[in-house]
Amino acid sequence: MKILQTIDELKTFRATLKGPVGLVPTMGALHNGHLSLIQQSCNENEHTIVSIFVNPTQFLAGEDFEKYPKKTEADIKICELCGVEALFMPDVQTMYTSLEPSILAPSSKSYILEGLARPGHFDGVLQVVLKLFHLSKPHRAYFGKKDAQQLYLIQNMVQTLFLDVQIIPCEIVREDDGLALSSRNVYLSNEQRSEALLISKSLKTATRAIIAGTRDIATIKHEMLLTLEPLHVEYVEILRRDFDTIETIDLGNTIILVCAKVGTTRLIDNLWI
Ligand code: AMP
Repeated sequence: MKILQTIDELKTFRATLKGPVGLVPTMGALHNGHLSLIQQSCNENEHTIVSIFVNPTQFLAGEDFEKYPKKTEADIKICELCGVEALFMPDVQTMYTSLEPSILAPSSKSYILEGLARPGHFDGVLQVVLKLFHLSKPHRAYFGKKDAQQLYLIQNMVQTLFLDVQIIPCEIVREDDGLALSSRNVYLSNEQRSEALLISKSLKTATRAIIAGTRDIATIKHEMLLTLEPLHVEYVEILRRDFDTIETIDLGNTIILVCAKVGTTRLIDNLWI
């Protein structure tokens, strides 16, 4: 596996590739969620490029940019074992200059939910993803449904900027007890980890209500909030998959999204129904 750190290295490597290329953008500290994206890319493409870059422009002042978990050696091993052909690990100076054109995600869909708590976050995400697309020219790029709003905004960018890449949404990978995998789970103490289970539990509450025939959004949100009661809930939303509001469940076109703080750690999860 090649480890690439500069733009030239990546461009030169990319020029040697003939068949379909899959790209898996990550911020590292790889876990089984990332692994499933990487494996899917390796299965579906002749070549897979993984990027590891903790992108400063998607962090707000006071967030965990400086202390974001890093485990570079293990990440390299994981990628090697998965059959990744190249791991792109640039530093900040490589990816950014002091004169950057800004990219603005559509505010009606990027200043709600995650974007309400983290204004500008998605502008930074789109900025770095666009750069990664230009550099690695992937045929397919793999993103987790775990970050549903991010996935939607990236799909929207690809469509509106006529980018020639297919976005592949990948299923959320969970621990056996339901906790969605996240690099930030390492911040949780044992006790906080148990509390965090209420998040996936609230999504099960919603599933049960829907199976029982409930379609009214307000009723389902109320039941979820009861399950989430002990936590500091930032939002519980039930929206159409294009992040527009709805009043009743539209089966096959709905996402239920939760964000709660456990200690100082913000955790997100969602369910596509
Ligand atoms: P990150 O390193 O957190 O930026 O995540 C890189 C990619 O992995 C994103 O597309 C995430 O949505 C995806 N991802 C993170 N956690 C999970 C998970 N538990 N299941 C599936 N995909 C995930």
